[in-house]
Amino acid sequence: MATKWKPRRVQSEDERKVSGGKYIKLAEIGDKFLGYPIFDGDVTKDEPGYYEFFEHWLTAGKGQSVPCAGEDCPLCEDDVPVKRRANTLWWVVEDEKGDKPGEDGEGELRTWTINSIVIDSLADIRSDDKVMGRLFRVKRTDDRGNYSLLPKPDTLAKSVVKDLLKSDDVPDYEDQITKKLNRAMEGLAISRAVEDNDDDDDDEKPAAAKSKSNGGKKGKASGKAAKEKAKEEWPDTLEDVEVVVTDVEKKGNYFTAVTEEYEDSADIYTTEGIEFDFTDLAEGQLVTVSATKDDDGDYILDGEPEVAAAEGDEDGDDNLPDEINETEFEVVSVNADAQTLTLTDGEITFDLFFLDRGPASEIDFDDYKEGAKIIVSAEKDTSDDMVANVIPTVVKEKKAAAKKGGKKTAPAAKKGGKKAGKGK
Ligand SMILES: [Zn+2]
Repeated sequence: MATKWKPRRVQSEDERKVSGGKYIKLAEIGDKFLGYPIFDGDVTKDEPGYYEFFEHWLTAGKGQSVPCAGEDCPLCEDDVPVKRRANTLWWVVEDEKGDKPGEDGEGELRTWTINSIVIDSLADIRSDDKVMGRLFRVKRTDDRGNYSLLPKPDTLAKSVVKDLLKSDDVPDYEDQITKKLNRAMEGLAISRAVEDNDDDDDDEKPAAAKSKSNGGKKGKASGKAAKEKAKEEWPDTLEDVEVVVTDVEKKGNYFTAVTEEYEDSADIYTTEGIEFDFTDLAEGQLVTVSATKDDDGDYILDGEPEVAAAEGDEDGDDNLPDEINETEFEVVSVNADAQTLTLTDGEITFDLFFLDRGPASEIDFDDYKEGAKIIVSAEKDTSDDMVANVIPTVVKEKKAAAKKGGKKTAPAAKKGGKKAGKGK
């Protein structure tokens, strides 16, 4: 898994030119361009200017298109519908802005990603006329994916088309889509992991969630299965059972607990001889207890409870948490080449990775300097690398505020947040 997806680095000027290419975007109704298709659109033959493929559309968030991976496609397994798409190459002589592109305004090769409606229209045109090298006025006509393709009398000479296809500016569509697919799949793995954690966060017992996600690499499926498993009634005695604190009685006489195994909640009372102070407990904390039910159905401790070790003490592979939420770190080094930031909070030091797709992909490493404090939200991926969910924000120097003179308003007195009990 760790080496399944490798970033493709741009390592030459040529690649730089070819990798993205220029795109035609008809974003609004009425947007149009004038250009010559440098393709026929015949799927039975390989054309450098035409690449038709299947694509899924994920509606979550802002939406995302993911090329279909065919036989082993996880999205097909999830019955996410596929649509046909094609990357098509055009010699554009007048672009969406009405400009004449190219160095001397003679035109420029650009890519237009077309939907199945346009694919079929082009096929129609080709059935009794030619497409390649013929001038078209293309216009977006609505928001449902319709475009008008108006043929014009001009055509490009065959030799011109040939030369254009030999140009360095012809993108490698197959490579582009393959790359996109790989990025998307990596992104999916992450978003699924996030989803997984979100599920867990919903049940108001972070500590339990924590232990769950630490309990070996549980896939989403098994996690769900565990959750959906019918819960049992609380037994008469608890012997070293790990419970999650949901509420603590003010005086510390008892706390309310839930478990993954038993239904609803139970109250667990302290008793004479128990030194542990329940008021030290916090919501969400994990406690291992041995207790016996009394006549009222409440549990009375049989011995001192054991409180789970503080976070960070987990016996994981490293000290990296599974996720980081808006936490401040200091930049140790900026590794623009490796596309990582080395960060530390004084205790843990790690490399923060960035995918080339998704919200954190737009990162500009020039924005970060050694020693800067930044706010990070990230998620561990399947190979235990910390991958940024968003572009880290740089914490502004406090000096700026201080300069303005005047006393800084004292930080709102520390909110009496519940501190995890230390256990005596
Ligand atoms: Zn698929």
